Amino acid sequence: MLLFAGRQPSARLLAAVGGVSWQNFAVVARSLSNAASGAAAEDSDKLHVCVVGSGPAGFYTVDRLLKKYGGKVHVSILDRLPTPFGLVRSGVAPDHQDTKNVINQFGALAGDPRVSFFGNVHVGRDVALEELRRLHHAVVLAYGAESDRKLGVPGEEGPGVLSAREFVWWYNGHPDARHLPIDLSKVHSVAICGIGNVALDCARALLAPPARYQPTDMAAHALAELGGGGGGGGGAGRSGVRQVHLVARRGPVQAACTPKELKELLTECGVAARTSAPDQLEVSAADAAEMKATRLKRRVHELVSKAVADGAKEAAGGGAKELFFDFYRNPVEVLRDGASGAVTGLKVERTVVQAGGGGGGAPVAVGSGQFEVIPCQLVLKSIGYKGLPMEGVAFDGRRGVIPNVAGRVLKAAPDAKAAASSSSSPPPAAAPAAAAAAVDSGMYVVGWLKRGPTGIIGTNLVDAEETAGALMADAPALLAAGAAAGAGAGAPQGLAGLSGLIKQRRLRAVEWGAWRALDAAEVDAGKAEGRVREKVTEVADMLRIAGV
Ligand code: NAP
Repeated sequence: MLLFAGRQPSARLLAAVGGVSWQNFAVVARSLSNAASGAAAEDSDKLHVCVVGSGPAGFYTVDRLLKKYGGKVHVSILDRLPTPFGLVRSGVAPDHQDTKNVINQFGALAGDPRVSFFGNVHVGRDVALEELRRLHHAVVLAYGAESDRKLGVPGEEGPGVLSAREFVWWYNGHPDARHLPIDLSKVHSVAICGIGNVALDCARALLAPPARYQPTDMAAHALAELGGGGGGGGGAGRSGVRQVHLVARRGPVQAACTPKELKELLTECGVAARTSAPDQLEVSAADAAEMKATRLKRRVHELVSKAVADGAKEAAGGGAKELFFDFYRNPVEVLRDGASGAVTGLKVERTVVQAGGGGGGAPVAVGSGQFEVIPCQLVLKSIGYKGLPMEGVAFDGRRGVIPNVAGRVLKAAPDAKAAASSSSSPPPAAAPAAAAAAVDSGMYVVGWLKRGPTGIIGTNLVDAEETAGALMADAPALLAAGAAAGAGAGAPQGLAGLSGLIKQRRLRAVEWGAWRALDAAEVDAGKAEGRVREKVTEVADMLRIAGV
């Protein structure tokens, strides 16, 4: 049964934890925060680091810094949201709870006396990057990729077209996506552009029986909307979705998704797999050779072929919802109704996959001049996330990353050719002499903002190792520069200075103890409903419950 459909989750949450007052949570919050702040006594030779962003890349960097630098480091973590954990909270699919267990490790780090957390502090709005640089020996940018690649086709802007990031934020209860106008009651068919793992996350959310998500931490508003549509699972929600089309500009051998995630969608969600034309599973001689050489490629092709063969046995219009694989189809236009502007279809051009870059590069999709229309009422663009710039630091707008060499930020984005290798790994022992002049001293970057939007949570461990390694190698020079500044304008004050600034600006910062109060309230409210947690999705409610 779908619980509380149509009601505000924050109100439910308040009711569910009615036995404990928010004032009490606030007292706990304050005492925990004070303990953490007080424990961080200042030393003159202490390295003060500020990490901007509390997702996996930020936390893994903290982990590496603490391990490498012992007691001689203090790290302040800032996040623009009142809640920590970035992509783990707002990106990882709700039915992948095991992946989220990493927050236990991150929580232990945040509770370390050498670490302070300040949520609800937006760098660039509440405090300037320049101020953080003055207060710390080093600043590590770890704020991820909060924008999206564009298709660049007519009809892309407007109602009925969302990026996968927005859709994922919406079902994961990210406050910025809480009020997206998502009405699935009149949506029968959804076209998802791209066939990476994020596209599969979206397809599962749209197609799987709601029972799959009911016990998870999927936001209550999304659970209420996504349920329904028949197909088993007993959802009482509004969704009318019966079909999802995965639209890929290249073929099954080039699909970006991984076999494990594909198998999950094909075997656990009760869908009938289809192709809209039989040629969509055909592969070239080059693809066949690639499949022979690479097990993962072979496996993806096998999984789709078998699922489509099995799906053919299920009559169209039967009980199962349908998952269409539309390979070799490049989106060229989102079609809209002339009067209402509502999405009516996705126009695609059939493609042929050819060897790229003079024969040596990755295979590319080439248009055939033949067009088709996939009827749909909602289009999700799942073609990759993109980082956003920050005032006061260089940005590579083409790639959506901060230009860097092994995590050391550069003063300017290199030309396109050099940018392609900006994240390759020269040894982090010291800034290479030739590159040293180009390095923006004291600035570091990690995660998707450093290397682009690829890889799983664990990929950030290796990435953080590189960035933290570069920072540690530079530490003697950074401390010397700080000491020299101390003789003049003032040495970096670290936590004391940052806390002072937050106080002076009257920012409603959510320190770790306050987050733990909010966390406990979410978990308690979830327990009452047989769920992992009931997420609070409005910032004002978060702050009230956290007692700040
Ligand atoms: P992704 O894996 O890079 O996939 C992007 C997809 O968009 C590809 O199919 C790509 O096709 C397509 N695309 C890109 N530009 C396009 C364009 N202009 N027109 C049409 N199609 C276009 O990105 P993602 O799915 O956002 O995932 C990001 C990272 O997170 C990946 O490394 C992914 O594995 C990881 N992730 C992992 C999990 C998990 O492990 N469960 C879950 C979610 C995400 P081409 O290949 O033809 O460029």
